[in-house]
Amino acid sequence: MKGYSILASVLALVIISSVGCAQQEKSSQSAEKTVKSQILQVDTIPTLNATKLELTKQYCLENYGVASYKLDSPKIVLVHFTVIPTLEETVAYFQKDSIESSRTNISKFSQMNVGIHYIVDKDGSIYKLVPDTVIARHAIGFNHVSIGIENIAKDAADLTPAQLESNVKLIAVLKERNPGLEYLVGHHEYNDTSLAHYKLFLAVDESYKPHNKPDPGPKFIADLREKLKAEHNLTFMK
Ligand SMILES: [Zn+2]
Repeated sequence: MKGYSILASVLALVIISSVGCAQQEKSSQSAEKTVKSQILQVDTIPTLNATKLELTKQYCLENYGVASYKLDSPKIVLVHFTVIPTLEETVAYFQKDSIESSRTNISKFSQMNVGIHYIVDKDGSIYKLVPDTVIARHAIGFNHVSIGIENIAKDAADLTPAQLESNVKLIAVLKERNPGLEYLVGHHEYNDTSLAHYKLFLAVDESYKPHNKPDPGPKFIADLREKLKAEHNLTFMK
């Protein structure tokens, strides 16, 4: 966050505990469980205001049939990459209230700008833009049940090991806070009607449909699932 003027102060320090691997001694064959504490630092970049909340409420009424901006019980963690190459440009994009009119395929359904709950920068730094309890517009038909994570990257090859690590830690913390999170979905697979998460799809206007997305790509999401299982014993449905 060095040199980044819009940033608000560091807010959330989340401590998670996990049971570490057992130290096994050959002689006694006894295993001693150790508890490791891990600190996840999340910096907050506020992007909400009264106008945006009103636009969100309107969006939810028009697209989900409920006049509320609240994300009550998230069920999906939905992972993306930005295509926009830097944190600064990405934040500037998300801070606008309204979507630009040139994005005709989505602007005709609502003036509400796209948004995201978390951004993970290339060095693994995590930023929170929208509270977990407020709906953000990042996945057509699934915003009413999903928490979104954007990774700063031009394409799949641009994603870094530090980003993978931070996604693992962040998702583990989100699961701890929201036990109802059952699905982990890549934006590239969100429109796959054969996957279990698709039963949560909701659209008042049936022409407002998910379309093919490249992000974050099969490798990143496969690595993420593998590490969540190996390091946190967490398995999500797709
Ligand atoms: Zn995406």
